Amino acid sequence: MDAALITRHLTQPCHLVVLDSVDSTNDEVRRRLAAADAGAGAKPPLAVASTRQSAGRGRLGRRWESPEGGLYLSLALAGSGSTLPLVMALGVQQALAAAVPGLGIKWPNDLLCAQGKLCGILVEGPVNDSLIVGIGINIQRPMAGSIPGAAYLSDFNQSAGTEQTCAAVLNATLGYWRRWLQARCSFAPLAEEYRSRMLLCGEPANVRTATGSLVATGHITGIDDEGRLLLEHGGHQQAVAVGEVTLRDHQTGSGFKPAPTTRNNALP
Ligand code: ATP
Repeated sequence: MDAALITRHLTQPCHLVVLDSVDSTNDEVRRRLAAADAGAGAKPPLAVASTRQSAGRGRLGRRWESPEGGLYLSLALAGSGSTLPLVMALGVQQALAAAVPGLGIKWPNDLLCAQGKLCGILVEGPVNDSLIVGIGINIQRPMAGSIPGAAYLSDFNQSAGTEQTCAAVLNATLGYWRRWLQARCSFAPLAEEYRSRMLLCGEPANVRTATGSLVATGHITGIDDEGRLLLEHGGHQQAVAVGEVTLRDHQTGSGFKPAPTTRNNALP
């Protein structure tokens, strides 16, 4: 990946580091934050990008498959609160929606289209007053072995370049992060935009904890201004701050319900 090419397309200031391969971009950001705290290295906003991870991870200790051909990007960002994952999902969706028809957000922060999962996001920290945001995007299909349930950017836009994608994602996510920071880390000003890009509204779903306990059940109706998922059941509304959503009926296979988006096969 060509760092100069990415930097040329950046409209948002950040210190960018590009590596051929790394264990985990989130871990690399963590190490660089520690160095910055000790007086060496760059201060946030800091970004580390790579096209391969040997130990990529998802939420709840799950593995994020990170073969050559994907984009693995982590950011160290100032701010606090539980809604940064939703803010980041908005940014990635905005960056890629023009290229991927029907790309929408599965609460809280997965990006899906009818073909599957295009992007996963993992927020960790705080570390030295920064939150670490990891973003994994499938761009090219891997040479060997396929990832179950994955969608690929190159299936929609064959010329999708990693550098171009990286710059578009950085510009959009940093832009949303600044808006969130200016609102003192309140999600309320972004909630309506999130609702308009949200998948699965109207679908019957269960929300469970990491250990599988049922937190809520009902039809998804949206999110509130604090970014909590809203479900309606028997005339009652419930708001859920944390959990994993699974659909109760799988009438459409993946349970995917596309959000209305543009159908232009080009990255912005
Ligand atoms: P989900 O909502 O899909 O249950 P999650 O949000 O809890 O997942 P993530 O951290 O986003 O978890 O991603 C981890 C999961 O994503 C893995 O358990 C695996 O099922 C799936 N996965 C792993 N690597 C990839 C990839 N490159 N592309 C698509 N999906 C992947």
